[in-house]
Amino acid sequence: MSLDLLTFGEALVEVMRTTVDQPLDQPAPFIGPYPSGAPFIFAVQAARLGVRAAAIGAIGDDWFGKCQLRQLEHDGVDTRGVHILPGYTTGVAFIAYASDGSREYVFHARHAAAGQLNVALLDHDDTRALFDGLKCLHIMGSALSMSDGAYELGLRAVQIAREAGAKISFDPNIRPQLIDAARARTRFAPFVDAADVLMPTDAEALTLTGETELDFAVGRLFAGKPGRIVVIHRGKAGAVVFQRTADGVRADAIPAYAVEEIDPTGAGDCFAAGFLARWLAGDAPEVAARFGCACGALAVTKMGPMAGAHDLEAVQRFMGR
Ligand code: ATP
Ligand code: MG
Repeated sequence: MSLDLLTFGEALVEVMRTTVDQPLDQPAPFIGPYPSGAPFIFAVQAARLGVRAAAIGAIGDDWFGKCQLRQLEHDGVDTRGVHILPGYTTGVAFIAYASDGSREYVFHARHAAAGQLNVALLDHDDTRALFDGLKCLHIMGSALSMSDGAYELGLRAVQIAREAGAKISFDPNIRPQLIDAARARTRFAPFVDAADVLMPTDAEALTLTGETELDFAVGRLFAGKPGRIVVIHRGKAGAVVFQRTADGVRADAIPAYAVEEIDPTGAGDCFAAGFLARWLAGDAPEVAARFGCACGALAVTKMGPMAGAHDLEAVQRFMGR
């Protein structure tokens, strides 16, 4: 059966400190593994909303890989794009939370299976079949920043998706630990150019365009691309949807839902999955963004990378509260 949403990138498990203020340079308890990795959080959120979703990625032939696969199968995510790489272990993120809200990480990703993505994965029949009848390819800048192989896979995936008639969505997700702003601007240009939907933060919109004011940045993002949608997401401040109309650029501000933030991991991924699921189903962009905001808000209310990804009924109940 053809997919609604496809993405690619790092499959990880997360292992986190059991209480705050336990730095990672000392012995202390951890809890995990929890299946994670932004592209996989995205796919799981989409599947829980009842959308046909998959992520292309790589795991090791080990217990952490099994942990990831079991979760994907449990949620009905299509696993045909998940490759088991002999000789590599599954990626791991170790995370400690501090009481001021900051986080510390140790990533085992670039040298793990997660860091070995390459364009040849797209030659596997099972993986290539994910593009047949695909509605939308969603790309995350964080996944592109992991390795040259992932970047090349991204370029080719856009080409295949376009040939298949799919829409392209791009969340720049610029992670300063992975890529600096100037490099992100040049490296991400082909993906910005290809995108039917762009989902940057304010800062990312400025970085990608080289502008210093949002209005100019948005103007630039619409130059030669009148049909695209730009969705700026702003954490606790909600989101703004920009669309070009006959009278200029229309902006719809969507307030955030008020929730208590327990764990911010995955908000952007759940927001994107929620937005795209509703937009592909035919909702107007500003309506889809409200739904995305509900998914993003719910995402931060639970500890654990995928725990906050709620199903369709739960999101609708939350929105109607
Ligand atoms: P990530 O760290 O996953 O990359 P992000 O920066 O890409 O996150 P955000 O803009 O933080 O994504 O969050 C996406 C959406 O989720 C926001 O537009 C908002 O609607 C919702 N959201 C995020 N954090 C909160 C919060 N604390 N309270 C309410 N809603 C939130
Ligand atoms: Mg983000």
